[in-house]
Amino acid sequence: MTLVDDLAELRFDNRFTAVLPADPKRMNLTRPVHGAAYSFVRPTPPAVVPGAQGGPRLLAHAPEVAELLGLSEAAAASPRFLAVMSGAEVLPAMEPFAMCYGGHQFGHWAGQLGDGRAINLGQAVAPDGARWFLQLKGAGPTPYSRTADGLAVLRSSLREFVCSEAMAALGVPTTRALSLCTTGDRVLRDMFYDGNMKHEPGAVVCRVARSFVRFGSFELPASRGEEELLRQLADHVLAEHFPELLPADGTPTPETYAAMLTSVARRTAELVVHWDRVGFVHGVMNTDNLSILGETIDYGPYGWLEDYDPNWTPNTTDAGGRRYAFGKQADIALWNLVRLAQALHPLVGAVEPLQQAVDGFGKHYSKTWRATMAAKLGLAELRDEQDLALVQDLLGVMGEHETDMTLLFRELGRVPLEGELDPATRLGAFEAAWHGAEQGAAEPDDAVRTAALAWMERYRARVATEGPGWFTDEARRAGMDAVNPRFVPRNWILQLAIDDAEAGDTARLHELQEVLARPYDEQPGKEHLATRRPEWARERAGCSMLSCSS
Ligand code: AMP
Ligand code: MG
Repeated sequence: MTLVDDLAELRFDNRFTAVLPADPKRMNLTRPVHGAAYSFVRPTPPAVVPGAQGGPRLLAHAPEVAELLGLSEAAAASPRFLAVMSGAEVLPAMEPFAMCYGGHQFGHWAGQLGDGRAINLGQAVAPDGARWFLQLKGAGPTPYSRTADGLAVLRSSLREFVCSEAMAALGVPTTRALSLCTTGDRVLRDMFYDGNMKHEPGAVVCRVARSFVRFGSFELPASRGEEELLRQLADHVLAEHFPELLPADGTPTPETYAAMLTSVARRTAELVVHWDRVGFVHGVMNTDNLSILGETIDYGPYGWLEDYDPNWTPNTTDAGGRRYAFGKQADIALWNLVRLAQALHPLVGAVEPLQQAVDGFGKHYSKTWRATMAAKLGLAELRDEQDLALVQDLLGVMGEHETDMTLLFRELGRVPLEGELDPATRLGAFEAAWHGAEQGAAEPDDAVRTAALAWMERYRARVATEGPGWFTDEARRAGMDAVNPRFVPRNWILQLAIDDAEAGDTARLHELQEVLARPYDEQPGKEHLATRRPEWARERAGCSMLSCSS
């Protein structure tokens, strides 16, 4: 494959803007936008030009995403790359725009939202012909910025950059991230909405995805009775992303739109099961933050279950209601799918097929969840109610004492089950995952140990029924290691990388990037990136709690 050495050689095919109606107004002022899928708007250049003292800096880029787009390492290292990715320069082939969408936020209809701080540069054509949107997040205001500034700060941008790529490496559907730049400008933020304003370094992430269309993209025209726009958007999404659903003549019918919902429901179900698998909590599952492609999108106050608790949410804005807690993500995804179904109703003209499509979510979620939990335990499948109880009881034991979810599953694959074993060996996985004094927690008591040991006995007996080949510790571990990561972007580890990056040191960021690119591999010497959350991080901002948009 040939890679280009200059971003300017990248080919663009801006299908979205070519096909869908634009806001006729070009001025960059906050406003309601009717009858249009987007507004043309250009990034605001940083105050100081790239290359000059105090100007933008490229802190990191993702070589894998660059290559996906057909960009060489030389292209990513060039001054033009920094200029474009920081918002200082727009290439002639780009037609920057902000998308118009609405959404339900925390259960309430919020009306028009839109890309308030995201500007799509255009659709780059990859060497394999696929079109990828390049989108700058934090490059200045758009007509959808409402009362905010259109900017982003380094801490949240670094979190989005690292996690997008970590998720991709984990095999979780996600938008990608090409680059992370600081702008050199300072951005005023009240991190916890408590009146404490602070200047922080401004930053821009270049996000990359096949589509940034959200559930809310359909909700907004539907809510306004803009049926023609709704149809145009649905037809475009079908043609670009669900061509297999189109009838032979290419013209969607009411059934086609319902089939699209079925497909979105399946993808969303699979997405939430992936989150369950790796212990990811999105934190803001508003309908404007759910991708029509079933990808993880809009990394904000997300978090990882460092101490297993289905009721945990990293989002301080959600601390009261816990609407977006780990254990509620499937229910919320379904709730959001019902909103999407309502939005598509004018195109389908009947409730029944939409209802069926939505019902498909629960079935597909359960089926996929069972298969995934079986794999996490090294079992070929959950055969019966007893097997289901085995999983549920494990989650129950995990909930009884602070347990690092990632470590527990990874280490379960390492507990030898062949031959006779003493209880200490049998409890190895739990001992590695339980929080204790070093984590600022109580030590696990006898009752928890007894429950864990009893569970291990049941697990061992069950594994023994898997057949002779699979019962070897070796085979079971290999299977489990492929679904139970060793490394995830733990909140407190990200915070350390943020502290360093804010002080101008990106070594930790780059180390994280490299390690998280191979999350299922044991990486000797990198154990410090796979350890339990230390006591100091328990209550520290950014480590266990985050606020919404920042
Ligand atoms: P979120 O929940 O972070 O996805 O954001 C919800 C809405 O607020 C979206 O329309 C965002 O574009 C918008 N938004 C968030 N932060 C900002 C910001 N700093 N400036 C402008 N718009 C923003
Ligand atoms: Mg959003």
